[in-house]
Amino acid sequence: MAFLDKLTAAAKSAGDKANAAIEIGKLNMKIKSETASIEQFKAQIGDLLWAQYQAGSVTDPQIVALCESIAAANTTIDDLQAKIDQLKVEPEAEAAPVERHCPQCGAPVAQDARFCNSCGVRLE
Ligand SMILES: [Zn+2]
Repeated sequence: MAFLDKLTAAAKSAGDKANAAIEIGKLNMKIKSETASIEQFKAQIGDLLWAQYQAGSVTDPQIVALCESIAAANTTIDDLQAKIDQLKVEPEAEAAPVERHCPQCGAPVAQDARFCNSCGVRLE
């Protein structure tokens, strides 16, 4: 706390509001950084409890209930992903390759062909 008091005093004695604003900005950045650290630690606690739940070693009913919610959400995600996979596969399976033919002689021509291989007509 003494360190923070010194910083505050220094900023004020300079009589420079801009300096004070810069210090406040730095201190707010530090608060933001510490807050982010707390969230990371909380997430790690959650990961540990989740692992313990999966190992069957969690007995606290509140934590069990939360872990069951995670398990249910995971099941929902799996279902949704399966639907996405189905939607991705079906159009490919049904879409037959579009054939292209020469308008002049009717010979099959490559999609990117500029001239017919058979009769030599210019293709559009
Ligand atoms: Zn042709």
